[in-house]
Amino acid sequence: MVHDALSRPLASLRVSLTDRCNLRCRYCMPEEEYVWLPRASILTFEEIARVVRVFTGLGARKVRLTGGEPLLRHDVPTLVSLLRRNEQVADLALTTNGMVLAAQAASLRAAGLGRLTVSLDTLRPDRFEAYTRSKRHGDVLEGIAEARRAGFDRLKLNTVVVKGYNEDELADLIEYGRGAGAEVRFIEYMDVGGATRWSPEQVVSRREMLEALAARYGRIEPAGQPAGVAAPAERFALADGTTFGIIASTTAPFCRTCDRSRLTADGTWFLCLYAARGVSLRDPLRQGASDAELAELITGTWTGRTDRGAERRLEEVERGALYSVEKLRADPHREMHTRGG
Ligand code: SAM
Repeated sequence: MVHDALSRPLASLRVSLTDRCNLRCRYCMPEEEYVWLPRASILTFEEIARVVRVFTGLGARKVRLTGGEPLLRHDVPTLVSLLRRNEQVADLALTTNGMVLAAQAASLRAAGLGRLTVSLDTLRPDRFEAYTRSKRHGDVLEGIAEARRAGFDRLKLNTVVVKGYNEDELADLIEYGRGAGAEVRFIEYMDVGGATRWSPEQVVSRREMLEALAARYGRIEPAGQPAGVAAPAERFALADGTTFGIIASTTAPFCRTCDRSRLTADGTWFLCLYAARGVSLRDPLRQGASDAELAELITGTWTGRTDRGAERRLEEVERGALYSVEKLRADPHREMHTRGG
C-alpha cells in the first residue's frame, strides 16, 4: 500500500463516468450553461478498467463510480462487469441521483455492483422541482424501490442539508429511509467548485442537525461503523435502533484520514476535492505508457500528497464560494460535477 506525505493510504478511488447530469441542483449545477469535457477526451471503459487495475496494484481496494450522473453513460453494467473481473476491487459502489435507476438497478446488480448510494434531498416534489429544475421526483423514488427489489440491501441515501430548503425534513427522511430499507446520510453543504451560491449562513452544522433530531426523537447515541468500514460519515442510532449518518465535511473536515482520490471522466486525477490542479493520466495512457510507468507516476504523485483542502477552507476568515462562474468556465475541472462528488 502506498502512503502520502501525511501517512494516508491510496485506498479509495472515485471514478467519474461523465460530467453530464440530468439535474441542475442549486448547490452543484445552478447555471444555465456549462462548458463540457470534449467527447474524444472521455476515457473508454477499457481505459478506465486499466487505470483501476494500476490503482489496485498499488493497494487501492475501494472504487466508487460517480459523475455528473454516472447512469447517463451508456451501458454502465458492462463497465461494472469489467471492474468485477479485477479481484482486488473489494468494494465496488456507485452514487446516482436515481433519475434513471429503476430501469438499470437489476442489470447493475447482476453485473456485480456491490453497493448503491442514491441522492435524495427532499420528499416534496415541489421542492425537488424548485431545487433541481426537474419534475421527475417520482422517478427517483421508483429508482430507490427498484434498487431494493434488485437486492441492494446496503442502500444509502445522501441528503445535502441546506438552510431554508430542506432542514425541516431530516426526521421525514429518516422515516422514509426506514421504510425503504436505506440508511440516510446527511451531508453539510460544502463550498466546492460549482456551489456558486454557497454562503456560510446556509450551512446546517452537524450540531444543529443532532439538536433538531434529538428534539423529535429524544436520546441519540453514537453508532460505530460496520466492521472493516472507514467512511467519512459519523453514524448515530435512535432509541429504536434506526441508524443514520452525518458527514460534517464543512464544519469538521476529515482531511487527516482522507484516503480518497478522484479520476475525472477525461482521466485527470485529483488528490483532493479542493485541489487547484490534477494530473493527467490520460496523456501517458494514450501515449503508450506501460502499467509500470503509470504506477510510477501515481506513486510519485501520491507520496508527495499534503492536501488538506477542507481544513484549509475552514481556516479562511471571510469564506464565500470557492470559484466564480468565470473561473469555472475557464476550467471545468474545477466543477464538482466534473470532479465526481
Ligand atoms: N449525480 C450523482 C448524484 O447526484 O448522486 C453523483 C454525482 S453528485 C456530484 C455526488 C454527491 O455530491 C451527491 O450526493 C450530491 O448531493 C453531492 N454534492 C454536490 N454538491 C454538493 C455540495 N455543494 N455540498 C455537499 N454535497 C454536494
